[in-house]
Amino acid sequence: MQRALAALAFSTVLFTTGFCLAQPTPGALPATAMPSVITVPAGAQASDHFDPQVATDAYLATMPADARARSDAYFVGGYWMILWDFVYGVIVALLLLNLRWSARMRNLAERVTRFKPIHTLVYWAEYLVLTTILSFPLSVYEDYLREHKYGLATQTFGPWLGDQGKLLLVNMVMGGLLAMLLFGVVRRLQKTWWIWGAIVTELFLILAVLISPVYLQPIFNKITRLDDPKVTGPILTLARANGIPAKDVYEIDASRQTTRMSANVSGFANTMRITINDNLLRRGSPEEIEAVMGHEMGHYVLNHAYVGMGFFFIVAVAGFGFLRWSLGWALERWGEKWQIRDIGDTAVVPLVFLAGAMFFFVMTPVLNTFIRTQEHEADMYGLNASRQPDGMAQAAIHLGEYRKMSPGPLEEWLFYDHPSGRNRIYDAMRWKAENLRVTGAGQ
Ligand SMILES: [Zn+2]
Repeated sequence: MQRALAALAFSTVLFTTGFCLAQPTPGALPATAMPSVITVPAGAQASDHFDPQVATDAYLATMPADARARSDAYFVGGYWMILWDFVYGVIVALLLLNLRWSARMRNLAERVTRFKPIHTLVYWAEYLVLTTILSFPLSVYEDYLREHKYGLATQTFGPWLGDQGKLLLVNMVMGGLLAMLLFGVVRRLQKTWWIWGAIVTELFLILAVLISPVYLQPIFNKITRLDDPKVTGPILTLARANGIPAKDVYEIDASRQTTRMSANVSGFANTMRITINDNLLRRGSPEEIEAVMGHEMGHYVLNHAYVGMGFFFIVAVAGFGFLRWSLGWALERWGEKWQIRDIGDTAVVPLVFLAGAMFFFVMTPVLNTFIRTQEHEADMYGLNASRQPDGMAQAAIHLGEYRKMSPGPLEEWLFYDHPSGRNRIYDAMRWKAENLRVTGAGQ
């Protein structure tokens, strides 16, 4: 659930870009790597017989077959990871409940203090350490070995482990704070806690998003202000033309962890900032960077953060409603066996995560479709703002290094949190075709 929550928060609220793409480490180019600079293929060049479908196919044909097979394998493997994460999470939760480890952790925390908020914090720390240890083999496979196997990770094991340690501490503080607030609500408001729980979670998420660029991101990465006007000039021009009050462009050293490219536009008023990651800066063509920035600005201008927060609130109310029902149902049957007194007892936490995992597993296509719809809107905005359909197509091709380019419609609906590469290229080429008609170019 933490992962699903984080994914939702980062995708809808922080505007993590749709243009994350893989960059092989210098000197160690995998044989299947895409070229850094993708030129406009013959079939996609402006002409009086320009056809968006032909142009889309021409772009897709620039991908070597083995590169495509590799990214298909990585992405489809990701579908299975959703299932394994779910099954693994359920097993861990059932172990903690049935072996009464959760009850024991509660007893231990009670021996430390009976003062409720601190007790919750102590339990949370125990829970987090134990589940981190139990989930460690899966984390190593999913976030380290598998990422390296497909050439998407840049860290050696030591630094990766260091980042996991930092993440654990952040979860301990942030998660502990949220757990204290939520248990406070549950213990005081026995009937309406599920509505207030959703409100508290929503407010907490907004706070996390606001402090993230200044207090959380710097724990993992270095963020610096870009000084080169050759780079910042076109980006700030694009920002001004779209009414975005940004004065500076920041660079984040994402290459510390990953080869993927990304950028984002975040904050509001005085905290408004444009951030671009070093992979995109180093590898993207100027047209590609402009197309990506146009997309990110689309998220900002179309208020996707606020719409995302509204949507998240509806999801949170539904999720807490499900929690109220499922916790009551399960505790009535097995509460005594698990030695959980009531829903205000911290020992209930594994059951909360079990119910949460079920809820988010079922909700996956709904969340994906919400995010994908916003991403499509940002694509449309970005094309109009940047007027770089070929930059957009090139970014989509680069992104195809880790995302399957041509899924079936049902597959895209279920699993894609961004439009597929094929659809994005077609959108760009259709824009190009219609604008050739408008401008009369190529006639
Ligand atoms: Zn996006």
